[in-house]
Amino acid sequence: MTRRIAVVTGSNKGIGFAIVRALCKQFDGDVYLTARDEGRGRKAVENLEKEGLHPKFHQLDITNQESIDNLQKYLKDKYGGLDVLVNNAAIAYKLNDATPFAEQAKFTIACNFTGTLDVCKALLPLIKPHGRVVNVASVGGTWALDKMSPERASKFKSPSLTETELVSLLEDFVNAASDGTHTEKGYPNSAAGTAKAGVIVLTGIQARDLNNDPREDILINTCCPGYVKTDMSSHQGTKTPDEGAETPVYLALLPQNVGQPQGEMLSDKKIVKW
Ligand code: NDP
Repeated sequence: MTRRIAVVTGSNKGIGFAIVRALCKQFDGDVYLTARDEGRGRKAVENLEKEGLHPKFHQLDITNQESIDNLQKYLKDKYGGLDVLVNNAAIAYKLNDATPFAEQAKFTIACNFTGTLDVCKALLPLIKPHGRVVNVASVGGTWALDKMSPERASKFKSPSLTETELVSLLEDFVNAASDGTHTEKGYPNSAAGTAKAGVIVLTGIQARDLNNDPREDILINTCCPGYVKTDMSSHQGTKTPDEGAETPVYLALLPQNVGQPQGEMLSDKKIVKW
């Protein structure tokens, strides 16, 4: 049997780095720290080596299809698939960033939603039976759903929404942001929130699709790590990165055949309804 394997995106620092640290201690198999910048990634691996942990490294920029394809090929050739995928990578503009909202919307959706989706499209087909997938989102995504107009929210929350239709909704948000009509069209005034709303809804769609998949016992869930002291939060959070990693790691290590949670959003290891 090939070795089990876990991959964490955007894990050269912050919560992703802490998820790799925890998986190195708790996951029985190879753990891949991935980073868009090879130098930052290898440095992060060195830092974990100093703690006596032995993650492996692979480059991955979730906004670069060639980079995603390279990882996909590597995993297929070396392991014949993968067992755990944690989609953690994301960007966030600071509150006082002067970048126009239209641009923030475009780049935030491109990385946090579309990048996550593109990684899933490449790697979900490789997930082995009993595999676990975790899409790191934020309660900001559930707040964004709450702030949408009822018509807009009903589209996002429709139980029959397809992946293609969700992608169109996010594209529509970016287009509306570019001409300043996004609030008029019922979207919230938050690029980060809308991207994470997309990730939360996407996870439900992916779970629905996986339930009709011949592979046995694959669970996919999304979660909020909490308010965590990282570069993203300008170190203003209430949790340490290790504490922020707890819920994602819990979902990544759900025991075999528990059957649920499936397609849910969790915070502090509890299901959040949206
Ligand atoms: P950080 O900014 O500390 O780390 C983000 C990581 O993602 C970095 O490793 C960064 O790499 C990487 N990344 C960014 N863009 C890409 C890309 N295109 N391809 C690959 N990697 C990329 O953020 P956090 O650790 O705080 O956040 C981790 C997750 O938790 C995110 O999904 C975030 O939205 C979520 N979250 C965080 C909260 C918090 O309070 N911190 C609250 C709610 C959710 P690089 O070093 O190269 O920039």
